[in-house]
Amino acid sequence: MATAQTRRSFLKIASATLATGALPGQGNPARQKPNAQDAVQLPPLHNVPTEGPEKSPSPTEPYSQRVGYAIVGLGDLALKEILPAFGASKYSKAVALVSGDKVKATRIAAQYGIKEASIYSYESYDELAKNPEVQVIYIVLPNSMHADFVVRGAKAGKHILCEKPMSTNVRDCERMISACNQANVKLMIAYRQQYEPMNRAIVKMVKEGKLGALKSFVATNAQNQGDPGQWRQKLALAGGGCLPDVGVYCLNAARFISGEEPTEVWGTTYQPKDDPRFTEVEETCSFTLKFPSGLIASCSTGYGAHRSQFLRMEGEKAWAELNPAFGYSGLKLRTAKLEDAQNVTIEPMIESVDQFAQEMDHMSVCVQQNLQPHTPGEEGLQDQRITDAIYKSAKTGNSVKLSPPAKPTRGPDPMES
Ligand code: NDP
Repeated sequence: MATAQTRRSFLKIASATLATGALPGQGNPARQKPNAQDAVQLPPLHNVPTEGPEKSPSPTEPYSQRVGYAIVGLGDLALKEILPAFGASKYSKAVALVSGDKVKATRIAAQYGIKEASIYSYESYDELAKNPEVQVIYIVLPNSMHADFVVRGAKAGKHILCEKPMSTNVRDCERMISACNQANVKLMIAYRQQYEPMNRAIVKMVKEGKLGALKSFVATNAQNQGDPGQWRQKLALAGGGCLPDVGVYCLNAARFISGEEPTEVWGTTYQPKDDPRFTEVEETCSFTLKFPSGLIASCSTGYGAHRSQFLRMEGEKAWAELNPAFGYSGLKLRTAKLEDAQNVTIEPMIESVDQFAQEMDHMSVCVQQNLQPHTPGEEGLQDQRITDAIYKSAKTGNSVKLSPPAKPTRGPDPMES
């Protein structure tokens, strides 16, 4: 592949990606503010014709005007990804913490400049209602705890961003949606890949027919689990094994990339008898989704295999793949098609972003401008319906038919980076 072609394709995709930023009839909300004139201009470093144009520092919203978040559950994801991501965000700030460990929370609050008075326990969580700095509650707890904390958060009058999987059963997902509707607050499920630019570029290619009709989609998300005592290996807390935890990325990608909903699913699971990690949950799961257009998605997920993360789709005119896919960084997009009677493979260069900053900023813009999130509760509910059907199929050995979701599961397209 020639470098020039790579660069050309980068420019083409980058500008095309930017073009999708507009919401119907609204212009891109993220672009309306902060104002371009707020950008600080720096003197050019490489002012020579052999260098490309230099980036200016992008303006970000003044700290005082950003949307304030309370982070609930200070575990691996909150401490390693979410809290650091506020540093890369433009519209969001961390203003409160909720934890069962006061000592840890106090140390983290000091690191992030959060007031000690804004540290809550799970018991005092409802007092967030009295904290006007908090506009959004971000739930980062074990899966089966999501529902109660979302319902309580909504009753406290706060908008909710909830980690995936939304919950562990359909009834709880419906309860969460209904509580947020009743309280007139927004509910967004944190499907970070739906805000990631390479995934968005694929969605755009599919929507514009660049791949032609999609025929097949394959995806794998597997990793080796360690400690058998962790909540992910406990059915009551996790709701399942690899399927709801990492398999949900494959399932969700098949849906949002194709833009279709499956009508029939098949599933198989494997749970070894002699491994202490899998006394309650499955180690491996394979599932097939059949979509109305004829597209068939074959996905596999596992908790006992070396890390493997990819997705690929074949269309009539071209294929596209992310390999690796699903990670926090290091994603690689490739696509191939026939051009001038030659099979050409293109590796578009799309700058990577902090996916957590991206998703939180989407939520913040939705709050500031009263917009519906791109991945509302209905998106998580639909994944839960399909997850249940996959488990049912694995248990019975028969396929399970699915009716279409009662409501659209996605809001308007997100702003782009
Ligand atoms: P951890 O186990 O690392 O952290 C969970 C935290 O929840 C704990 O540290 C603890 O915080 C709190 N907690 C409260 N009750 C319990 C309990 N009974 N057992 C265990 N923890 C409890 O999990 P993760 O941070 O990895 O995952 C949290 C959520 O984030 C899950 O829903 C997971 O699916 C999702 N996730 C999403 C990812 C993504 O890429 N979007 C990646 C990883 C996870 P404290 O000590 O403060 O009380």
